[in-house]
Amino acid sequence: MKQRLEIHVEGIVQGVGFRPFAANLAKREHLTGFVSNSSEGVEIEVEGEKKKTQAFLNDLKEKAPPLSVITKIISQEIPLVGDKNFTILQSNGHSKVTTLISPDTAVCKDCLEEMFDKDNRRYLYPFINCTNCGPRYTIIENIPYDRPYTSMKHFTMCKKCQAEYDSPDNRRYHAQPNACPDCGPHVELLDSMKNKVVSNDPVEATAELLKQGKIVAIKGLGGFHLAVDACNDDAVTLLRTRKGREEKPFAIMVNNIESAKNLAEISEEEELLLCSRQTPIVLLNTKLNNSLSKSLAPGNNRRGIMLPYTPLQYMLMSFAFKALVMTSANYSDEPICIDNNEAFQRLNNIADFFLVHNRDIYIRSDDSVVIHLANKTRQIRRSRGFIPQPIFVQSDGLTVLGTGGELKNTLCLLGRNQAIMSQHIGDLENIEAYNFFQSTAKHLERLFEAKPEVIAYDLHPGYLSTQWALEQQEVKLIGVQHHHAHLASCMAENNLSEPVIGLIMDGTGYGTDKTIWGGEVLIGDFKEFNRFACFEPMPLPGGDAAIKAPWRTAVSYLYKTYGNDLPEIPFLKLNDINSILQMVGNNINSPLTSSCGRLFDAVAAMCGGRQEIRYEGQAAIEFMQAAEHSSENILEFSIVDDKDLKRISVTTLVKSIVKELKAGKSFGEISTMFHATLVVLFTEVVLKAKKETGINTVVLSGGVFQNMFLLEGTITALKGKGFDVHAHSQVPANDGGISLGQTLIAREQLK
Ligand code: ZN
Ligand code: ZN
Ligand code: FE
Repeated sequence: MKQRLEIHVEGIVQGVGFRPFAANLAKREHLTGFVSNSSEGVEIEVEGEKKKTQAFLNDLKEKAPPLSVITKIISQEIPLVGDKNFTILQSNGHSKVTTLISPDTAVCKDCLEEMFDKDNRRYLYPFINCTNCGPRYTIIENIPYDRPYTSMKHFTMCKKCQAEYDSPDNRRYHAQPNACPDCGPHVELLDSMKNKVVSNDPVEATAELLKQGKIVAIKGLGGFHLAVDACNDDAVTLLRTRKGREEKPFAIMVNNIESAKNLAEISEEEELLLCSRQTPIVLLNTKLNNSLSKSLAPGNNRRGIMLPYTPLQYMLMSFAFKALVMTSANYSDEPICIDNNEAFQRLNNIADFFLVHNRDIYIRSDDSVVIHLANKTRQIRRSRGFIPQPIFVQSDGLTVLGTGGELKNTLCLLGRNQAIMSQHIGDLENIEAYNFFQSTAKHLERLFEAKPEVIAYDLHPGYLSTQWALEQQEVKLIGVQHHHAHLASCMAENNLSEPVIGLIMDGTGYGTDKTIWGGEVLIGDFKEFNRFACFEPMPLPGGDAAIKAPWRTAVSYLYKTYGNDLPEIPFLKLNDINSILQMVGNNINSPLTSSCGRLFDAVAAMCGGRQEIRYEGQAAIEFMQAAEHSSENILEFSIVDDKDLKRISVTTLVKSIVKELKAGKSFGEISTMFHATLVVLFTEVVLKAKKETGINTVVLSGGVFQNMFLLEGTITALKGKGFDVHAHSQVPANDGGISLGQTLIAREQLK
């Protein structure tokens, strides 16, 4: 029995070797027909014995090429045609938003073997790539994803490369960045005056300089890195000074998984993550007594470790480095540098040398950062390797752009059932970041051919992302409350649509009552929400200034608890507290906040932790790292049963902590108790919410849920009470995730 099938495939199926894969499958099963790219993905017709066409259909899903992501396959029987063979038809026309672009991908094993093979024509060629690996998103200027629309347009393929590109049997068939030493890009080593450093091999010369303790700016896939030898304490310290980065941990790159295992405790899951195609930075617990510089991550026992992902990095790491610092090339919190000239301008006072190349980067993309917690991979910074792979959502409707928040900003373009989140843009606190934000908004529209009908923004009037949204014309504008967006973001990635209890533990976000929220229990769905409970609002002396100086918050919380009758604890002798007491006492510039992040700051500081921080979350991170896994002992707490809004008493917690301090408990002991207390407290308040609403599904969101003890403890405790508990995995729990939630809320509200 013969049959002919018409098969329609959607997803990431272009530029990933899907057509030759389908052709090879068809030939193996002796089927005739054709395969072609279409505006929506790939169209296939196959004809032959029914058993064989069904086997074809099955293998199409099961054995698809590594970089493809199939989101939809529809097949139907159509009349026989009787063609003689199977052909690959050339692309025609334009792609639409449904045609997805593949993320950038680490160099594959086959390419690495060729690169280190003396007899291969690409021996030690740092731009080797194939259909299964290499740059994608970062080199695209426009769609369709074809060489003339990428930064490879400046390089004409030589005969040999062209033949590979044209041959369906070749593993470089239609690999747009295909290149070789004869026809492709090249690296060059320059000093800070832009003079060429004469050497036989610029990569080897770079390795030499790094070993001498120099700082080298190295052009990578999504931007420049600043590199130094991670074992050289002087070099690391110099980099900190020049970069204006006091204590925030530096990520390091190691040669291979064995080297990583020498430095950190690595589980099976973490090993898979390190070695994955996305090669993110993985946050790992370090082993003591390693020979790395102590300045890499002062006071922090976690290290961000990654493996090489470009051919150039593999070549560099082969010069026997234990580890290299590979940090985004920028000054302080500015966006990462991508352009050669820009690098010389902006990095001139930081880098001693520049290892550059002439393949342009069109879209900057930092390294992604992930952590494995509570049995899942959790995104902390979703960028290179993951972008622009969509988050698939259940709803369909208007095309919406979400502009995100202020810190760790991302944008999100929601079209049909696909939410495309942008790469990490960063903190919108300087003009460079704001420009990057604006160009990314335009770029998303262009690449996905989707003009937003609605723009969703955060309610905070001071955010640049909000101000930009409000300037846009001919589009509907919807303001979204910050923590509602967190809730919706967690619902979206977990495919939830019914109302949930949202436990949103966060830094700060603008509330509907114009105060600063941040420790919220919300009941809601995409359409609306109710504020069920929050932490008791406390004064934040100096507003944002308090965020950088947790001791101020601690003084304020103690004053709010005890008034002028302050307890005798060592903390109060550490600082000049009078100005803060006056501020809070007279209610000067002391906005109220229910933030959970600030509560962590205050508690950490009053127990003798960080008085002032050098990077976001430092006090809370060090406080957490001092804790033991779990504790039977908990602090006293209370939940005030106000009818409209329940309040979790902060003053009760503070009193209870002071009692422990007076009893001589250590920083670590109190941290352990504090974490255990929050878990019990969260469980209790969620039980109250269930009692009133009957809802049994809980979502956990907000930056505080990057805290491993809280995340693991709360999930376990709530599951133990029979709740259906969801946390973030694909998108960050921090503000990097809120653009997703904004888009879904805006869409539903306009329905
Ligand atoms: Zn490859
Ligand atoms: Zn060539
Ligand atoms: Fe937030």
